[in-house]
Amino acid sequence: MIQLQIHSPIEEISNPLFEEKGVRLYVKRDDQIHPFISGNKWRKLKYLLREAEKRKKKHLVTFGGAYSNHLVATACAGAKFGFRTTGFVRGEVVTNHSLMLCKLFGMELQFISREAYRDKKAVFDMLEASEDAMFVDEGGAGQEAVQGCSELIGELDQKYDHIFCAAGTGTTAAGILKGISQDHLKTQLHVVPVLKNGSFIANDILKYQNDSVSLNLHSCYHFGGYAKTTPELLAFIKDFASSTGILLDQVYTGKMAYAAFDLIRNDYFMRGSKILLIHTGGLLGLLSQAEKIA
Ligand SMILES: *Cc1c(COP(=O)(O)O)cnc(C)c1O
Repeated sequence: MIQLQIHSPIEEISNPLFEEKGVRLYVKRDDQIHPFISGNKWRKLKYLLREAEKRKKKHLVTFGGAYSNHLVATACAGAKFGFRTTGFVRGEVVTNHSLMLCKLFGMELQFISREAYRDKKAVFDMLEASEDAMFVDEGGAGQEAVQGCSELIGELDQKYDHIFCAAGTGTTAAGILKGISQDHLKTQLHVVPVLKNGSFIANDILKYQNDSVSLNLHSCYHFGGYAKTTPELLAFIKDFASSTGILLDQVYTGKMAYAAFDLIRNDYFMRGSKILLIHTGGLLGLLSQAEKIA
C-alpha cells in the first residue's frame, strides 16, 4: 500500500510580541513532510493515490496553474509510486521553476486555454479517456483530500485553543475542521483565504463539514489577491525567516502567518492562548521573488 513516512514536528517559536500579549505560538511543520510532495499536498493526495492503486490505474491526469504546488506534488508522487503523470496547465505556454520540476519528475505537460480549462472533465474525456487513466481534480479537491487533511488533528501532542491555516480551495481547512469536530475539541479554526473576496470559501468548507461554531474566517489578508504580494508582506516573510529559521511563501503561508501576528497584535486572543500555525509547505513560489526581497 502507498505509504509515506510522515515527518511533521511541532515547534514553538518565540517573539517579544507573544510575551507582551501572553500567548504561545507553535508551528506544525507539514512543509517537512517531503520537499516536493509538500505539506497539505501529500495529505490531499494520499487517499487518491491509494484509490488509483486499488483501481489498478497507471496514469494520473491532473490540472493546475503554472505555479501550482499540486502539479509538482503529483509529478513527484507519480515518479515515486510508479504512475505516469499528465498535467494540464491553465493558460499560455510558459517556463518556470515549478514546471521545470514537473518535467524532471517525468510529468507530461499540456497547456490549455482558460476556456477549455473550465471544463476539466471534458478535457480529460477527450484526451485521456484510456482505461488506465484517473482524473485528479485541481488541487486534489474532494472527499479523499478532506479525509487526508483531517488526520493532522490526530497527530497533535497537546490541545491548542486556536489553529490557523491558509486556504485556496478550502479543502485543507475542511479537513482540519472535520478532525476538530470528530475529536470534539474546543479548538477554533482560523482560515485565511489567499484570494480576494474569499468569504465564499466558508460555504465550500461547511459543505464538507458543517461545524460553523469552530470556524473563523479572516478574509482581509489577501494582499491584493491570489499570488499578489506587497513589500510589507515580503518584509514580514524576511523577518519571520531571519528570526525563526522557517521559510514562508508569499502565496499561502506568509499571508496566514501575517494574519496570526496581526490578530495577536490587536489583542484578538485571550492571555494564555495556545496558537498553532499549520505550515502547509509550498515554498517554490518564493523562487519567483528573488528581485523583490530587499
Ligand atoms: C495548495 C496550498 C494551499 C491551499 O490548500 P487548499 O486545500 O486548496 O485550501 C495552502 N498552502 C499551500 C502551501 C499550498 O500549496
